[in-house]
Amino acid sequence: MTAPRPDRAASPALSHAAPIIVAEGVQKHFGTFHALRGVSMSVRPGEVVVVIGPSGSGKSTFIRTINALDPHDGGSITVDGIPLQGAKNLDAIRREVGMVFQSFNLFPHLTVLENITLAPTRVRKASRAEAEARGLELLRRVGIEEQAHKYPAQLSGGQQQRVAIARALAMDPKIMLFDEPTSALDPEMIKEVLDVMKELARTGMTMIVVTHEMGFAREVADRLLFFDQGNIVEDTTPDEFYEHPKHERAKQFLSKIL
Ligand code: ADP
Ligand code: MG
Repeated sequence: MTAPRPDRAASPALSHAAPIIVAEGVQKHFGTFHALRGVSMSVRPGEVVVVIGPSGSGKSTFIRTINALDPHDGGSITVDGIPLQGAKNLDAIRREVGMVFQSFNLFPHLTVLENITLAPTRVRKASRAEAEARGLELLRRVGIEEQAHKYPAQLSGGQQQRVAIARALAMDPKIMLFDEPTSALDPEMIKEVLDVMKELARTGMTMIVVTHEMGFAREVADRLLFFDQGNIVEDTTPDEFYEHPKHERAKQFLSKIL
């Protein structure tokens, strides 16, 4: 076992706090297809968890069940003490959880700043001035304040993804979920997005990140989950996983991506 990263090891919250996400025996079917087969895991506040695994193993489905984009149909999920049951606590949970997708999903007819202020003004009832000030601050944080009044199509992929991160942060989530956030980007843009995510991790954000970026995993993640056929088959540290994968599927997978 490798030692925890020094900056996080120093955090008492990480080692002692109760989990902020608890999944127990989560099941998900799409018709007759059994996509999640009893997934159990928990994440403590401030933890950064990387999820990897073969295509179709259930990574996206699992993180989508955490903010109820896909309802699960067995087992239980609790987010910040709120049980996810049908439609009941949906809004409360979605307020706690921000999500960033591979394909950015920005609104093309809105400027960068409007993309960011839309939810805070509509859902949180923030004033326009308040939401814009906060939006500009977030754009500064992701390094693209000067793009505030452009439209998404005028930005590079890396810039669009940084807008998507700022947009999610504008709702002040306690947890951020990332589903292959750099997979659609040209290589030279991957780093600028990973750097924003590293900075977010450094501030103590709880993060679950589906990514095959090994450098990011080893530098930033506290834990790594390897999915195979709808279940977690390894839950370990990134260093341990890359150096000593235990499961045969993990060894095969690594031999293909490395
Ligand atoms: P991953 O993100 O690991 O590549 P997914 O979670 O997207 O995998 O998908 C897991 C499995 O569930 C795949 O076989 C996929 O085809 C299936 N699946 C995902 N979403 C749907 C859906 N909306 N309808 C039917 N099948 C789906
Ligand atoms: Mg996926």
